Amino acid sequence: MRIRFLSLAIAPSTICAYSSFTSAPTFLDSSLLCARTLFQPLYCGRSNRDGLTTNLQLEEEHCLTAPIVRAPSNTTWEVRPSIGKGLGVFATALIKTGTRIMVEEPLFSINPPEFVPGKGYEIQAMIDDVDVAVAGLTAEQRSDFHSCHEYRLPSEQESDEHRNMFIFRSNAYTLTDGTVAMFPQIAKINHSCRPNAANVWSEASGLRIIWAARDIQPGEEVTVTYAPLLKSHAGRQSRLSQYGFQCTCAACVDHERTDSERVKMGKYLSELEDRLTRNTSEFANKKLLPKALALVEMLELEHMMDYLPNAYHVAAEISLRLKDSLAASKWSTKALTLHGYADERSHAVLQERLFLDRISP
Ligand SMILES: [Zn+2]
Repeated sequence: MRIRFLSLAIAPSTICAYSSFTSAPTFLDSSLLCARTLFQPLYCGRSNRDGLTTNLQLEEEHCLTAPIVRAPSNTTWEVRPSIGKGLGVFATALIKTGTRIMVEEPLFSINPPEFVPGKGYEIQAMIDDVDVAVAGLTAEQRSDFHSCHEYRLPSEQESDEHRNMFIFRSNAYTLTDGTVAMFPQIAKINHSCRPNAANVWSEASGLRIIWAARDIQPGEEVTVTYAPLLKSHAGRQSRLSQYGFQCTCAACVDHERTDSERVKMGKYLSELEDRLTRNTSEFANKKLLPKALALVEMLELEHMMDYLPNAYHVAAEISLRLKDSLAASKWSTKALTLHGYADERSHAVLQERLFLDRISP
């Protein structure tokens, strides 16, 4: 994980005691936790964008140091320092779109206390469980866990008593069964609002999977998102401040140009998903279709694979309601392909196959 800047100008109490969003990164305040979780619209799935020259140039500067963590021998990545972000994961060879980069089981997971909507989990109630889980790890696993970043509030700088919890709340993900789990390898991947990798939890396989959302060049840093991307720059930064850093990716630098599109995409997606939970008239569907196609186009331009499977499915569903089975099949097949990149056995793949069967029995 990363600390670009600690938001020291922000009083701890405003650094987000809780998080109102249950889909992305963690956290924090000394008493509360909001674990990273993933967006889970209609079917779930995720990914990203491409060809950002400025990003690539920046990332190349990060490749000057020797790797400090050895990846398994058959991988195309390594862990090493990333300027301004602590450690990061870097491609050591070309990683083609759709390639799985990391596949990881939870190192351990715990049952959190009740999630308070708009707030989070009470950290205090999780400390003992995290300590017990870490104590039960092998020496090598414990070393992996302790190699992950820990973000501390200014008031916590001197306290080593709860180090395990500091690490856990800075890196853990909330899973679909409500448990909160640690993935120490994936935790080394830094954030970008234009990530080049998608991040999927497959409940069917019990694995978190990172796959290339676009071609990733040798030496380029692999990134995922910790925050909902279909929000304005201010909205994303507010979320990321919970991790103690401000994002300076190309999308953030260029936010005056990109904000309106991001907000529009978010509005379209939530409106379309909401409408599809209800019966819609032919007249309504005819009005929804152009919006769905516009959404798909905008997301494709940004290579936002974390959202595209759902947008494709929405387009398929509306097409089917308009009795255009050819178009429905085309969009559903695209969604299936992206879900399949993550995990052929996932529920998302199964659901999309069932949808395709409905189109052509
Ligand atoms: Zn950013």
